[in-house]
Amino acid sequence: MTRLLEGKFAIITGGSKGIGKGIAEAFLKHGATVVIASRKEQDLQKTVEELSSFGQISYVVADVSKTEDIQRMVSATIERHGRIDVLCSNVGIYPMSLIEDMTEEEWDYINTINVKGMFLSIKECIPHMKKQGGGSIVITSSITGPITGFAGWSHYGATKAAQLGFMRSAAIELAPYGIRVNAVLPGNIVSEGLLSLGEEYLDIMKRSIPLGTLGDPQDVGNAAAFLASDLAKFITGQTIVVDGGQILPESTEAMELPTKE
Ligand code: NAP
Repeated sequence: MTRLLEGKFAIITGGSKGIGKGIAEAFLKHGATVVIASRKEQDLQKTVEELSSFGQISYVVADVSKTEDIQRMVSATIERHGRIDVLCSNVGIYPMSLIEDMTEEEWDYINTINVKGMFLSIKECIPHMKKQGGGSIVITSSITGPITGFAGWSHYGATKAAQLGFMRSAAIELAPYGIRVNAVLPGNIVSEGLLSLGEEYLDIMKRSIPLGTLGDPQDVGNAAAFLASDLAKFITGQTIVVDGGQILPESTEAMELPTKE
């Protein structure tokens, strides 16, 4: 396998579980040195133990909604490695709430984690990337919001579309400094968060995916590795959908092969 990220240093927020952990594993296999960040130290320790056979990985305990935590995450990475080549802004939450029942607090909370958390993480990395003469930022958005909709997840969809609005202007603003900003848009990927939605949900989703399976976190990790790598050096402000074809069918019937007369 070509190692796309040899010699690069990456921070992955939400790296202790699910898609973030899959990105961490893919990045390590592609030769990157990785720092993962999330809130629960026990989970971070477990993931570092599990993945350390693939390469150099360490952790920082940080809540992406808190400026001081993000500053600590970035300064710890600089102290350990001297540079930040890649930031994967991956943290995201997806609680279900119908609009009629949704409280202002619920709306604010999801925006704080998914949108403000992304903004704070990116903001703190920029000075270091500028000083180095470049860098790459990969945001984990979703198909939900930017492309598709789902009853019960309107607030979530709004945050995931907001991330792309931010990305497009950020890509222009940061291009003069050699900093690229792109996004991965996962479909249904087997993560701790997705599994918590229950068996019935997983079965329905599986049936709506032309390739016939749910995604693996490393499927997203490999797309992120490409966007973060020098192979994508002329790509900025763009998205890669990683969904097994889920956004393609017009209806469930569209996936049934027509019978020949
Ligand atoms: P997950 O399994 O629930 O994992 C979430 C990760 O984020 C954990 O490491 C969690 O650790 C961390 N985290 C949550 N809140 C945090 C906070 N405030 N500060 C720092 N870390 C925090 O989620 P996932 O399914 O992998 O989703 C990851 C991303 O992919 C999200 O942006 C989500 O919107 C997107 N996505 C997922 C799917 C899917 O099918 N799974 C589909 C489309 C998009 P702690 O709780 O210890 O902090």
